[in-house]
Amino acid sequence: MRLRNVTGSREVIADSRFVVHEPKEHKGKWAEVFGNDRPIHIEIGMGKGRFMMDLASANPEINYIGIEKYSTVLLRAIQKMEERELPNLKFIRMDAEDICEVFAKGEIAKIYLNFSDPWPKDRHAKRRLPSKEFLARYNEFLASEGRLEFKTDNTALFDFALEELEPAGWKLEAMTRDLHHDEKMFEGNIMTEYEEKFSSMGNPIYKYIIYR
Ligand code: SAM
Repeated sequence: MRLRNVTGSREVIADSRFVVHEPKEHKGKWAEVFGNDRPIHIEIGMGKGRFMMDLASANPEINYIGIEKYSTVLLRAIQKMEERELPNLKFIRMDAEDICEVFAKGEIAKIYLNFSDPWPKDRHAKRRLPSKEFLARYNEFLASEGRLEFKTDNTALFDFALEELEPAGWKLEAMTRDLHHDEKMFEGNIMTEYEEKFSSMGNPIYKYIIYR
């Protein structure tokens, strides 16, 4: 969802108090960033931030960090925070490939991946956020009791993500191939921007929750 020709997005991000600018400097010290030691949940590939903002608003006892690779997309989340500031939500602009340099062992209690880019070519499989290579990264900093929740409407990506679990040493806690018609898993569901778009087109939404 790269938005082009958004002038000055890097400058706005550099000036924004909602963005943590040198995230690697806070490794192992994220409680200081929030000023409390509440659990921290992250979304990787946050997009325009609606999911993170709705969660942060509903759960003030949890701290949230939204991670997004592209400035032009992150800009949209910053603009929304200017209208509705949430003290328990911070943003990072970075490529998740470097995520182990940002969080220390056990520092994160939950990871969300929502509608991750599918990278359909086989040679790009390692770039998929639910790949075994990324699961190995998450293993470094997710708390031992932590959970990873993944939603997508992409059948090939979901099947791939399921196949990656065993080789990466992760286990399935729950899954559905039709979230919006699964009474138990849909309870308390917060829609993402992509989820709203694709479910309104009639696409079933897949979801898993995993642990290790
Ligand atoms: N999660 C949002 C949603 O469900 O509405 C956005 C989904 S969008 C298809 C995927 C987002 O992930 C894009 O904004 C993209 O820039 C971001 N992204 C993809 N790969 C990433 C990476 N390696 N690190 C950080 N962000 C990434």
